[in-house]
Amino acid sequence: MVQKDSSPPSDFIREIIDEHLRINRFKGRVATRFPPEPNGYLHIGHAKSVCLNFGIAAQYKGTCNLRMDDTDPSGENQEYVNSIIQDVKWLGFDWEDRLYYASDYYEQLYQYAVQLIKRGKAYVCNLSADEIREHRGTLTKPGKESPYRNRGVEENLDLFKRMRAGEFDEGAYVLRAKIDMTSPNITMRDPVMYRIKKENHYRTGNKWCIYPMYDFAHCLSDSIERITHSICTLEFENNRPLYDWFLDELKVESHPQQIEFARLNLSFTVLSKRRLIELVEKRYVSGWNDPRMPTLAGMRRRGFTPEAIRNFCERIGVAKNDSVIDMALLENSIREDLNGRAPRVMAVLRPLRVVIDNYPEGQIEEFDCPYHPQDIEMGSRKVPFSRLLYIEKEDFLENPPKKFYRLSIGREVRLRYGYFIKCVSVAKDPNTGEVVEVHCTYDPETRSGFAPDGRKVDATIHWVSAAHSLSAEVRLYDRLFRVANPLEKDSDFTEYLNSKSLEILRSCQVEPSLAGAAPGSQFQFERVGYFCTDPVDSSDRALVFNRTVTLRDSWAKISEKEKK
Ligand code: ATP
Ligand code: MG
Repeated sequence: MVQKDSSPPSDFIREIIDEHLRINRFKGRVATRFPPEPNGYLHIGHAKSVCLNFGIAAQYKGTCNLRMDDTDPSGENQEYVNSIIQDVKWLGFDWEDRLYYASDYYEQLYQYAVQLIKRGKAYVCNLSADEIREHRGTLTKPGKESPYRNRGVEENLDLFKRMRAGEFDEGAYVLRAKIDMTSPNITMRDPVMYRIKKENHYRTGNKWCIYPMYDFAHCLSDSIERITHSICTLEFENNRPLYDWFLDELKVESHPQQIEFARLNLSFTVLSKRRLIELVEKRYVSGWNDPRMPTLAGMRRRGFTPEAIRNFCERIGVAKNDSVIDMALLENSIREDLNGRAPRVMAVLRPLRVVIDNYPEGQIEEFDCPYHPQDIEMGSRKVPFSRLLYIEKEDFLENPPKKFYRLSIGREVRLRYGYFIKCVSVAKDPNTGEVVEVHCTYDPETRSGFAPDGRKVDATIHWVSAAHSLSAEVRLYDRLFRVANPLEKDSDFTEYLNSKSLEILRSCQVEPSLAGAAPGSQFQFERVGYFCTDPVDSSDRALVFNRTVTLRDSWAKISEKEKK
């Protein structure tokens, strides 16, 4: 008997399952599946479905299968299968030995179709795709029966067999369910079950030249795997009667319950494989794992953690009405997670030289700096300090406005974990007039970060020692689109791509403790944001960091402004 533990909050799907357990509908079993089509990489919308299906199975001590829903040879391939396997694993879920392929059911599905023909419930139809559409009718107009609808069983069996044998061209015939051309539900107006497609399938090669349609294959795949709860997105609500019709007409032993929920929509991105494929193929991004993509591969490379994604999915919950989730919520989930776990280090993205005039040449001190202000368990590292430093260009202004509290001539600031320094003069490039070097003095009495005479500074800035720091490339990633809904207007959604979604900084300087940072390791660059070493391009010789997310939400302000 399945027992329920109390962890995740309930929702309408879990309530349905509770009821089924109460009335013993599936003899106490709970079996779900996640059924991606391997025609693209998984995105954050899929993650919602993964978390839901695997989450329910874990909660009710049931099972969740991973099934490749690979019944359409066009666009499916092994690379996508591999990526799906990697991504679901990475999210933290385990299907044990239950990895299935709908393409393994082709023979069984064919036999089911033969049974329906024998029962007079399916027929071979010569109408073309266009003619079928014309015959289908509309919401207000009933459909028209196909002239081939009353073909005899023997002829249907013969034609279907010859369809399979490859005797006919694509489009010459289809197999249709014989249901009701006047049904108010258009899905029930003799839907197509099989069509001829002379394409190579990545698993079955050219063994088949007829392929089952989703509505026919999906319910039967669920039934074959003895799924109890077939959870899918809302657009399949009208298909549920058809799902049930096939299973009822075939009198199969296992009849799963289809339940629909609202798909995830996320602002400032697109979550449809078709559009993501376009971004990849037209090279708007560097690939499926471009850190700006909403794919799990992209998000992983960007520095997202499975925990942050799972938390996000739990937070948004499941509902029966479509809605759009604010991208800020996803960004906040990763911020929260990294705030707890990311070691703090110092990195200067746009370096400006600082000379401490009264610090002895050749002298080096080492400051012991904790990795996390609240978590001493994370330990500390030594950060070298010397006469020549780099600070962030934007932390110095020659002509500061009133409320600028950082460094300028005559002002004193604290160096993070170190001394107070005071700016005394600047050196400029004689050609451009640009400040290229800032001269400061330090107060040796302020090593603790505080002045014995009690004087205060208004700002603390980060820095690295020029002789010790490492060069690095930093990739500043931002939202892929500059508008909340890139699909709102009729125009091409790529017009709304954010041209500032990637800025590459090649002359950054990072503290020496980052030498040899493992691929994908995460850090907070103090005062700058959360970053990770790029798992693809970073190496010991050439460090590359990706910005996962800024420390604060800078888009909130922008959209406030737009509202005004
Ligand atoms: P797309 O619309 O991106 O092409 P799809 O539904 O065709 O997606 P599938 O590979 O068939 O992609 O999806 C596998 C599972 O993931 C399905 O059960 C589907 O309902 C679910 N899924 C897909 N997109 C979302 C989403 N945005 N939110 C929640 N679940 C989703
Ligand atoms: Mg689909």
